[in-house]
Amino acid sequence: MIDFELSENVQTVQKMVHAVAEQAMRPIAREYDEREHEKPWDFLNMMWQVSGGNPIGGTGERKPKEGPSERNLTMCVSIEELSWGDAGLYLSIPNSGLGGAAVAAAGTPQQKERFLARFSGGKPKWAAMAITEPCCGSDSSAIQTTAVRDGDHWVINGTKIFCTSGLMAAEKSEGFVVVWATVDRSAGRAGIKAFVVEAGTPGMYVTKVENKLGIRASDTATLVFEDCRVPLTNILGSPEIPKTSEGFKGVMATFDATRPIVAASAIGVGRAALDFVRDTLREHGIEVRYGVPAHKLTALERDFMDMEVQLQAARLLTWRAAWMMDNGMRNNLEASMAKAKAGLVVTQITQKAVELLGPLGYSRQLLLEKWMRDAKINDIFEGTQQINQLIVARRILGYSSKELS
Ligand SMILES: Cc1cc2nc3c(=O)[nH]c(=O)nc-3n(C[C@H](O)[C@H](O)[C@H](O)COP(=O)(O)OP(=O)(O)OC[C@H]3O[C@@H](n4cnc5c(N)ncnc54)[C@H](O)[C@@H]3O)c2cc1C
Repeated sequence: MIDFELSENVQTVQKMVHAVAEQAMRPIAREYDEREHEKPWDFLNMMWQVSGGNPIGGTGERKPKEGPSERNLTMCVSIEELSWGDAGLYLSIPNSGLGGAAVAAAGTPQQKERFLARFSGGKPKWAAMAITEPCCGSDSSAIQTTAVRDGDHWVINGTKIFCTSGLMAAEKSEGFVVVWATVDRSAGRAGIKAFVVEAGTPGMYVTKVENKLGIRASDTATLVFEDCRVPLTNILGSPEIPKTSEGFKGVMATFDATRPIVAASAIGVGRAALDFVRDTLREHGIEVRYGVPAHKLTALERDFMDMEVQLQAARLLTWRAAWMMDNGMRNNLEASMAKAKAGLVVTQITQKAVELLGPLGYSRQLLLEKWMRDAKINDIFEGTQQINQLIVARRILGYSSKELS
């Protein structure tokens, strides 16, 4: 049976998170966009307290042992609400984030316990994931950072750029950074492994925090690793180099979990813009007429309906990708479809919203211009628009990454 209704449990969480977004995020959204690099500590502490160890930004668990769950779907629904409140603030919430998703996707059961337990109490903590390097982003198999075994340690050397929450994870909390590095360049993709580097580990330095176009409440850092030593047990999964690139696929599986999350965040920003336009039109006595023949609609009504349709299509793709994870199904194709669609439509919707409201849309008096700036990142990180389209094409046509690049 196909059912597009959210369960009562998920709806309850949705309402609760919406209240947080409306009352705690919207009122400070502009302030922390203007005050880039300053942290909204009252909000962050409150989120850490209320999440009570339930990491709103953490994900990656496939179907739990006891059967299908709604964990990933609930996460997507919650993140849409939080990003409706403010995408930059959502990204800055202390939790296991992308680093936790990598541990969940590639770590052993012992590693999950060891690295993720800290997110259920004590002081706020962050985890980050560092893949991108000055030489390469989309082609993550070309990374130059190395991890060399030396006795009981791995020694990491290299530079990672544009790491979300990198500063908070590496220096300002008892969190960690998951770093992708090659243990054997001659092995190509198969030699790439993920390593957990605990906050404050000697040899890991934050050398820069970016000034950005959007999501300015979220820190984005450059991390340098200079003879940074981590215990042997900090390599996620098996240290063996497989004969094929299966190991790399394991690390890449992180994205199957995180792409629906990015898509959900994009949808939240798009919905914020759409809701605002609808409310503004209403205030001016303009009601969008549904069920009217297309040739009788105004241009504005057509634009508005198209925005709604695109947003709904992106949401359905996103929920499907999350539902598949909750049911233990491989969702690599669906996660990329959702991310590609949502990343594109949020940029289109927010631009159109600015356009429809004229000069007011462009003014800093409203949040519309901010949403337009916040939107674009969803088309860049966790695989750009082009890369996700490439993955979709490969999966549908049955080509390998060598055959279609
Ligand atoms: C705010 C922000 C936060 C980020 N957070 C993180 C993070 O937490 N961790 C992390 O590791 N990285 C992070 N990134 C980096 C992000 O994932 C990369 O920017 C992204 O993967 C693209 O890589 P690149 O910038 O090197 O661009 P490139 O790979 O150089 O791509 C440049 C352009 O070429 C296109 N392109 C590349 N290859 C192809 C191809 N084969 N076919 C068609 N088009 C192609 C791309 O789509 C893009 O438009 C973040 C980036 C930003 C801006």
